[in-house]
Amino acid sequence: MSDVNRRAFLAGTAGLAAAAGLIAPTTVEAGDPSFMNNVPDPLLSGKDLPTFKFALEKSKPKVIGKSTAREATVEQLPISKGIAGVSMGLEPGAMRELHWHATAAEWAFVDKGRVRTTVIDPQGHSETNDFEPGDIWYFPRGHGHMLECLGDKPCHFILIFDNGYFSEFGTFSITDWIGHTPKPLLAKNFGVPEETFDGFPTKEVYFARGAVPPEKAATPLQGVKLPPETHRYQFLTEQPHRVFKGGREWRVDSTRFPISKTITGEVLDLDPGSLRELHWHPTADEWQYLLEGKVSVTLFGSGGRYRTETLEKGDVGYIPQGYGHSIENVGDKPCRVLIGLNIGVYEAIDLSQWIAGNPLDVLATNFGKPAALFEKFPKKDVFITDKKGPGK
Ligand code: MN
Ligand code: MN
Repeated sequence: MSDVNRRAFLAGTAGLAAAAGLIAPTTVEAGDPSFMNNVPDPLLSGKDLPTFKFALEKSKPKVIGKSTAREATVEQLPISKGIAGVSMGLEPGAMRELHWHATAAEWAFVDKGRVRTTVIDPQGHSETNDFEPGDIWYFPRGHGHMLECLGDKPCHFILIFDNGYFSEFGTFSITDWIGHTPKPLLAKNFGVPEETFDGFPTKEVYFARGAVPPEKAATPLQGVKLPPETHRYQFLTEQPHRVFKGGREWRVDSTRFPISKTITGEVLDLDPGSLRELHWHPTADEWQYLLEGKVSVTLFGSGGRYRTETLEKGDVGYIPQGYGHSIENVGDKPCRVLIGLNIGVYEAIDLSQWIAGNPLDVLATNFGKPAALFEKFPKKDVFITDKKGPGK
């Protein structure tokens, strides 16, 4: 719509609205409309901030054989409305059966062992991939997939979903569907006799158990029909995105892993005493999982509200979009934090950078201190500092 046409259109609708006794409409072109006139989240608008920690690996798992699944959703961690997570372990020969998620995309980080996945897209492309520790996958919302343990050792991976209300235990599984569909309908659907379905599972299998898969994946029934964008990314085998005195950061978003349109992944390694500095993400919630070590996470929520939680190995933390936070290694050995942000392109503003982006007189007035004091502050982004602090 040209400007002239838009003005005419708005004038027209304003006229109609006025005639109908309504308020004249306004355009939403000034910015992201999702925050306009929204109701404050009751959970985040109280006097105190709610807990933002959940001990995922200490929670009760779903168990079949030696395979396990533990989840963190709004049920377990009410603050985590934007992102849910699952810790899954598969024994050799076990498969998280063919399924899809109606309400979330799936991003995963392989922690231990080897995993094979297959995934189908709406264009009928399918891809089979093998994963090693440090690799990640991304399946867009609704795309059908399976996960299986490769080799004779168990595997463990962390799944991140871009919807905190999503439950891994409410997914659409193929045995659940076929087990509840009348056999004549199945026979017609597939062009096979009804007896074909005798003895099929009658309820959801969830973890299927069978032979260890062949080392080299076999060709799909339809033959090879690969998607334009791969679902696999070898994350930790590449060089860190940034290296600091006291820590390292790996980061992958859709700029380098194009299919991952709704999740950005980060891994932070921090030496004892090191700090991922105070910062916030303008466009994303943050979901944290402690792979190793012990950290102190702070959360700033405006109105004097400030909360600190200590996360240990296997614990989950959650930072709502736009809330200030920091991560400090308070253990006596290096720590590793897995982070998922529910946005396809990484964005953050670090406090040191914000300060450095202002003239001395602004800082002097703001804090009521001499300008000279702020000459001692960092002149660029700190991001990660070791225990001595930046510049020391
Ligand atoms: Mn899944
Ligand atoms: Mn962050």
